[in-house]
Amino acid sequence: MKEIFEDYLKSHNYTRFDLKAVLFDMDGVLYDSMKWHSKSWHETMSEFGIKTTPEEFYEYEGMVGRSTIDHLFNREKGRDATDEEKEIIYKRKTDLFKQYNDNSLIPFSYDFVKKVHSQGLETLVVTGSGQRSLIDKIEHNFPGLFSREKMVTAHDVKKGKPNPEPYLMGLEKAGNLRPNQAIVVENAPRGIEAAKAAGIFTIAINTGPLSEKSLSDAGANIVLPSMEALYNNWDKYYPIIKG
Ligand code: CA
Repeated sequence: MKEIFEDYLKSHNYTRFDLKAVLFDMDGVLYDSMKWHSKSWHETMSEFGIKTTPEEFYEYEGMVGRSTIDHLFNREKGRDATDEEKEIIYKRKTDLFKQYNDNSLIPFSYDFVKKVHSQGLETLVVTGSGQRSLIDKIEHNFPGLFSREKMVTAHDVKKGKPNPEPYLMGLEKAGNLRPNQAIVVENAPRGIEAAKAAGIFTIAINTGPLSEKSLSDAGANIVLPSMEALYNNWDKYYPIIKG
């Protein structure tokens, strides 16, 4: 197990970890919301005559909405969506998501965030989501654990995952940290690619329907079946990465 951490250090030319922050993806990591996102996307696209499967949206998870829409338009219509189409489609998807979403948490997400926060680590949310109610929701479900100013959302970034920009911004907001001073907790291939491209050690928890292999192929350093498994393994990892 220790080798996984040593391999990371060696391949990134670091001599040690110096952990200061944990960067959390939101949907599928903190909230059990991906099933509602995928249902809302699938139904919205059907209404606009674009064929999709509910499952494929797990492949696009983490990307900002406008990129997902362009990807599907190119595949099904051979062109990008217009700005107006993007706006209408994203609004419809957001409205459906609001109807369906029950705000349930991924089991053990609150416990894990609280645990690392009580160890003195900075805890940040780095998400491709642009929901306006997001900050209030986070403050309600994770009181005192995430600060408003340090959150990275769809409104902060130009490119979005799988581009490293959101996680690089997360490092900056956490206090201009270097990659070996943080870890990322992700659940989706595009999010893992973003974290890896930012050079950060990435723990994937597989809370969706994709295979564990799809998460390790995307570049996750560790793949676990659940947040509960991360909570339980943390006492083994922490002495190695606290620096
Ligand atoms: Ca996610």
